[in-house]
Amino acid sequence: MTVTAGTTPNSAAAFEQHTPRVVLRAEIERLVAYRQGTAAPDDAFKLSSNENPYPPIPAIVAAIASSSVNRYPDGSAHAIRNLLAERHGVTIARVHVGAGSVAILAQLIQAAAAPGDEVIYAWRSFEAYPGLVTVAGATGIPVALQPDCTHDLDAMAASITAQTRLILVCSPNNPTGTIVTVENFAAFMVRVPPTVLVVLDEAYVEFVRDPESVRGMELLEKYPNLVVLRTFSKAYGLAGLRFGYAVGPEYVLDAARAVAIPLSVIEQAQRAAIAALENIDVLLERVERLCVLRDRVYTALIEQGWTVPKPQGNFVWLATGEHTASASEIFLRHGIVARALGSDGLRISIGEAESVDNLLAGAAEVVRTLPLGRSVAALD
Ligand SMILES: *Cc1c(COP(=O)(O)O)cnc(C)c1O
Repeated sequence: MTVTAGTTPNSAAAFEQHTPRVVLRAEIERLVAYRQGTAAPDDAFKLSSNENPYPPIPAIVAAIASSSVNRYPDGSAHAIRNLLAERHGVTIARVHVGAGSVAILAQLIQAAAAPGDEVIYAWRSFEAYPGLVTVAGATGIPVALQPDCTHDLDAMAASITAQTRLILVCSPNNPTGTIVTVENFAAFMVRVPPTVLVVLDEAYVEFVRDPESVRGMELLEKYPNLVVLRTFSKAYGLAGLRFGYAVGPEYVLDAARAVAIPLSVIEQAQRAAIAALENIDVLLERVERLCVLRDRVYTALIEQGWTVPKPQGNFVWLATGEHTASASEIFLRHGIVARALGSDGLRISIGEAESVDNLLAGAAEVVRTLPLGRSVAALD
């Protein structure tokens, strides 16, 4: 490479300034790349990404170790899809796997919605939704949650237009932890045209204890426009391996498969997912322990005066509003890294049992020191 005189950092900046830029999609240039939960300082609990605090069981470690990396993975993921199909009582063609369920979300949105088309979702909900819609070139139609933090399914149904191609329903909702009830989901589906795809994102369904909650897998025969999304990242503790799946109509999942980047679900992920299913009881016992911890945290927060929606995922939602940044700093001083979501609130994962005292001490200090108004009931 020839280094010409004057190639200093300054002239590099000048180069940037005077060189015409290639044309990128304006909406993509405006898009902020997905932000991960902040890395925790060594002595803090990272409760910002809804991860499972338990390390992998030996069977999963062994499954990962036995995978060969000089070969490509089985692109059809036949073995794990077969197990999942059996588990849910569907044909293997009705199961699709992805490198995380977020990958499948992206595929479904791309498969259904092009520029000019609309995708409806609740807001606040999963942070990835708006960006995935923008990347597809479609238009996001966010519909505000109700004051009790649940989906406003009436308003979502009322937002359907001739341009609507896909509706995302998240139950339990990330970040509020609220569920959609069976009854409300049924009333909603009556209002959705059968030509519009509904994706029920059940990333946290294993943590649900409310009997009223919608369960997508039971409804697949009833609604031919429904796809149910699941992940092994949260309940089964495989976030780092990236494995999620969808169950729904074969032709819809064929479209998602057509959009997918080939071979992105690696062998380790497929084998680990099989090991997880073979040891599901051990993993669900851990989920149960997290649910017990969650309910303890919820009760303690209510006693502190917080107004918290009853959590059905592995996290709690604190509506700290405009004080979110300050509240986040207080938690950090108590050794808790929380996920601060704009000026709406903090989402805090249920993690190590040892983190609970810190979490509650932080929450108590927030209540004591910040003027939170309606997020906490009057304490004095
Ligand atoms: C975590 C999460 C996902 C995706 O998780 P993956 O790791 O990509 O499987 C999807 N939806 C919601 C609501 C989530 O919180």
